[in-house]
Amino acid sequence: MTATVWFLTGSQHLYGEEALAQVALNSQAIVEQMNGASPVVPVTWKPVLTSKDAIRRVMLDANADDDCVGVVTWMHTFSPAKMWIAGLDALAKPMLHLHTQANVELPWAEIDMDFMNLNQAAHGDREFGYMETRLGVARTTVVGHVGDPRVQAEVDVWLRAALGFQAAHALNLVRFGDNMRNVAVTEGDKTEAEHVFGVSVNTYGVNDLVDVVATVGDAEAEALAGEYERLYAVEPCLRAGGGRHDSLTYSAKLEIAMRSFLEAHDALAFTTNFEDLGGLKQLPGLAVQRLTASGYGFGAEGDWKTAVLVRVAKVMGAGLPGGASLMEDYTYHLAPGQEKILGAHMLEVCPSLTTATPRVEIHPLGIGDREDPVRFVFDVDPGAGIVVGMSDMRDRFRLTGNTVTVVGPDEPMPKLPVGRAVWRPDPDFYTSAACWLMSGASHHTVMSTALTAAHWREFARMVGTEFALIDSSTTRDAFEDRLRWNAAYYRLARGI
Ligand code: MN
Repeated sequence: MTATVWFLTGSQHLYGEEALAQVALNSQAIVEQMNGASPVVPVTWKPVLTSKDAIRRVMLDANADDDCVGVVTWMHTFSPAKMWIAGLDALAKPMLHLHTQANVELPWAEIDMDFMNLNQAAHGDREFGYMETRLGVARTTVVGHVGDPRVQAEVDVWLRAALGFQAAHALNLVRFGDNMRNVAVTEGDKTEAEHVFGVSVNTYGVNDLVDVVATVGDAEAEALAGEYERLYAVEPCLRAGGGRHDSLTYSAKLEIAMRSFLEAHDALAFTTNFEDLGGLKQLPGLAVQRLTASGYGFGAEGDWKTAVLVRVAKVMGAGLPGGASLMEDYTYHLAPGQEKILGAHMLEVCPSLTTATPRVEIHPLGIGDREDPVRFVFDVDPGAGIVVGMSDMRDRFRLTGNTVTVVGPDEPMPKLPVGRAVWRPDPDFYTSAACWLMSGASHHTVMSTALTAAHWREFARMVGTEFALIDSSTTRDAFEDRLRWNAAYYRLARGI
């Protein structure tokens, strides 16, 4: 599959064939400029649209083409917007309205009415915007010349979100076992999730996986364990010839079996549950971390909603510096003026969040009632990031985001053998935590150090769900008001 986005230019026949030929040349030049900026997805030019039938047809074709992740629309001239009703009604993919024009500067000395009629996106796009708003079309509006780096950056954010939208709609998610018993926020409406995000979420007996583990040969497991030794700082007792090497090869069998199970089910995200390990000898730690590092979404304790977010974050952030992982707010440093959050999980934090070589270690785990699990141990790189959690509010899914700065630990933590992050949340710890609690946001999140709030806002807009952001400008009172307004809005927006 080769992802692309279609560039649709609106016009009409009023101006004659010569003008339309110029419109086509100008819009092709704009597409060339967009592609010259090496966008994450190439832009495909489509013939200029001048009729209701052609507009409807191109939208239906966009829906039907799995390679097309969305459409960019631009009215080079005036394109009477009633022509767009049937097409906009039919469109089921993300749309970006690019409000641009061919020229940067007005040709002051030469300008005449022919130029004015050819280059009238200034009001052609307003006519189109009226129809988008009248029909309630979810779209992103970007304003400016395509040569402007700011415009290119905004388009890139939208393109990445469109890739996330596509990935969510193509996603199969395998749950090894159900949710952790009695936990509330990791539950949710899987049927509604398939409607909203497109993701298909299904549960398998964990012993189906145990059966696959049993088929993995020793030589294959030894080969993968050897790869671990080459790539990572494996502690001596786990290495070949070490006293606990069997634990490493069992972990390798887990990875091989999970990868093959997921491939057989065409799944790119999964969950586990330490309460339901069947015949597994270890709670999967290193195996989960290796799988997520290669792009799989993951949530612990049956948390499929976070697994969806991790997968979407992997796709939206692909190729950018940084990574994405399941994260959990664990405990606080409350020294006045130094407040920070220490985040981690039992085992499964993804090493895409570090550029250092992770250590591979084995330690006892009080939870799960199995043999000691092997895991990566590392500190998440300092820098900007965002955490996003998903909660099922019964009538909608709410995404709550918080921009953060990963700062690293004040001192080494030699007795904490997990992947861990220490961060300062925006705008400050007290406001962040109070707003997060008001929002009913989850204790599991996806932490991304590759994405910004803008990517998640675009993604939420595309799937039509709520995004409540806590950032440097947030105040408790305004955030509480926003939650109330959102509650009313999302109920009314669904109709009666
Ligand atoms: Mn957890």
